[in-house]
Amino acid sequence: MKRRDFLTTSALGIGALTLNGCYREENRVKDKNVNISRVKKVTLKLATSWPSHFPIMGTGVENFAKRCFELSGGSLEIKVYPKNILVPALQVFDTTSLGQIDAFHSGVYYWKGKNSAFSIFGGMPLGLTSEEMITWLKFGGGMELWRELYGKFNLYPLIGGSTGPQMGGWFKKEIKSVADLKGLKMRIPGLGGEVMKRLGVNPVLLPAGEIFTSLERGTIDATEWVGPALDSMMGFDKAADYYYTGWHEPGSILEITFNKNRWEQLTPQHQAIIKTASEEMTGTMIQEFRYKNAKALQELPENVKIKNFPKDMMESAKIALKEVLESESKKNIDFKRVLESYNNFTKLNRNWDEISTKNFLNIRG
Ligand code: CA
Repeated sequence: MKRRDFLTTSALGIGALTLNGCYREENRVKDKNVNISRVKKVTLKLATSWPSHFPIMGTGVENFAKRCFELSGGSLEIKVYPKNILVPALQVFDTTSLGQIDAFHSGVYYWKGKNSAFSIFGGMPLGLTSEEMITWLKFGGGMELWRELYGKFNLYPLIGGSTGPQMGGWFKKEIKSVADLKGLKMRIPGLGGEVMKRLGVNPVLLPAGEIFTSLERGTIDATEWVGPALDSMMGFDKAADYYYTGWHEPGSILEITFNKNRWEQLTPQHQAIIKTASEEMTGTMIQEFRYKNAKALQELPENVKIKNFPKDMMESAKIALKEVLESESKKNIDFKRVLESYNNFTKLNRNWDEISTKNFLNIRG
């Protein structure tokens, strides 16, 4: 009788949880001729860098957690904590590394202070698109390098979505040549910010909640954010008229990253479920960005003028980017290695892209 009670409890998947929300092994119970896998319930804590229900990125990771639960038949519960609930937005990397939480969802470009090489995994100005980035990571050796370098922080990264191509940003005044950038204050992070700095811009970092007011009051002259869908929610179209097309974040990659010890304790089934759900999230997020950006573009108010940055500015940006990459490669051997892998894939991809996607889009017109 006692034995039957035990089996019933196991079958319901109600195992005792530790404080960390962790679990462990899998009980296989032979029932007549059928092998039934009875998996103890695992609960993981995942913190994000986004507000609660933040469109596309935040809802994307919430849906990822839901899918893990569904696909595991309820044995894998990932509790999602929006920014500042459990952990401040930009401390998710450290707290996961230390094992205080199990995982995080964020943007890779936030961690360049840990190792400048990380910024390449997050995307490159004037570089690869989302699909190309993911191809490099999955097939071109990028993921192996990412896992190796994150391993030093006791972390295990997975691709956690992508924004697709981002817009170049909102400017209060028209930019007619590279000279017009001189002295402009712009909210722009990452390698794009480094390039802009070399073109005369004064790049500033602001918390998301302060960007609109700063732009409206003229404390800053320009800001980049994501694309029409998320930018219009921020109200930037009420503070600036010139909306420039993108170059600095053609395919920014987001991450779902686990504490490495915690990841290794998961059963192969749970690992497979998480990998599958993260792939699904990535595809869906790119599609959702495409659709919602297209819709939001159509609905932008009339004061908004969509512009391309002037040719001389983009030529200068290419030169400045080369300088930034060369200088960083000299300082950081990891940066040099990751850049070499990235460049090898870019070279391999180029000829095929020229005669396939790029050529076709020209033909399609
Ligand atoms: Ca951005």
